Parts: sequence; C-alpha cells; structure tokens
Amino acid sequence: ANVTRAGAQPPAPPPGAAGPPPRVKLVLLGDSGVGKSCLVLRYVRGQFDEASKITVGAAFMSHQVMTPEGKSLKFEIWDTAGQERYLSLAPLYYRGAHAACVVYSIDSRESFEKARYWVDQLQRNAPGSIVIALVANKSDLADRREVPEEEGRSFAEAHRMLFCEASAKTAAGVADIFEGVAMRLTGAGLPVSS
Ligand code: GDP
Repeated sequence: ANVTRAGAQPPAPPPGAAGPPPRVKLVLLGDSGVGKSCLVLRYVRGQFDEASKITVGAAFMSHQVMTPEGKSLKFEIWDTAGQERYLSLAPLYYRGAHAACVVYSIDSRESFEKARYWVDQLQRNAPGSIVIALVANKSDLADRREVPEEEGRSFAEAHRMLFCEASAKTAAGVADIFEGVAMRLTGAGLPVSS
C-alpha cells in the first residue's frame, strides 16, 4: 500500500513560473457497459457514437481543462475495461492517481451495487487524498430507471464523493463531472500553474 502512495503529487512549480500545466491522473472504474468510454469520448471529443467500442485493455486520453478560476490542468484519463480480468494491473492502475470516477448506470441496480465494490477498491489501493466522483450515467434512460437519484447522492455524501447524474448520449452533466473534480483538486491545494 505504501508503494501506491508514492509520487501522488507532482512537484510544485515556483510561484509565477510558466510551464506545462500540472498533470492529473484520473482513473475510471465501474462495471462493463455503464458507459465509461462514452463519457470520456463525449467530454474529450464532444461525440457520442452508439456503435463504437473503443476500449480494449487500457486506453488513455489526455485533455487540458481550465477551472473557473483560470487555472489549467491536464487530465490523463485512464480507462480500463473489465478491470477484474486485469487484477495484476491494479496496483499500476491506481498508483499516483489524483482522482477517480466511479460510474454506474441509472438503469442498472446491479451496476450501482457494484459501485460500492469499486469505492472499496479505491480506499484500499489509491492514495488517501484521492478525489472521487460518483457518476450516475445514462440519465436519458429515465423510463428504465432502477436507481433513484437520491440514493446515489446519499451514497456519495456518505463517502465524501462528488455526485453527478450525467448522460454521455445527450451530454447532460458530463462537463460538470470533470470541472467538479478539477475544482476540488485545485481547492485541495494541488499545485497549479496560472
Ligand atoms: P464501458 O464498458 O463502461 O466503457 O461502456 P461503453 O462506453 O462502451 O458503453 C456501453 C453501452 O452503453 C454502449 O452501447 C453505449 O452506446 C451505451 N451508452 C453509454 N453511455 C450512454 C448514455 O449516456 N445513454 C445511453 N442511452 N446509452 C449509453
């Protein structure tokens, strides 16, 4: 466990120094099919493609964001499909992570129950300072809802996680997830460039 805590924070640049924005490692967790890849594609490329199936093993995307206070961060988003099948990779996946999104789908109670497992995994394996967002995806599927919004929200509050209902399909709430994480990280004193 000590090893996974090493190197959690990038070194602080000197005050006023120009340079590349600090990198934020964000890992995605959640059952297969809840829409993790689609959320990233929606956020990074502004697209939703019903037919695409891009995640094979570990995928990785970079995206620079600006917080409302004008601070920039570079997200490195790690998306691993079927993490259970890659358990030997888990320490590498969690190592040095600053943030995590635990995703479930509002039309699947099973995926919500599984979110508890992923939060537990984070608490065991990730740095203690990690910022976690609980994401209730597929909010467009209201007529098939199995998990009330309030239930997700109270689970998130109990574990001091951010909470967001979102839809990779319609884009609702998607930017809020990443902006919320960025704001909590910068608010928590992650060194940022101006
Ligand atoms: P992953 O295995 O968690 O990465 O899930 P994917 O991103 O591959 O998505 C799984 C399936 O859910 C795909 O068929 C997507 O088209 C669909 N999907 C993803 N996000 C949404 C969403 O917000 N709304 C709806 N209706 N379908 C979605």
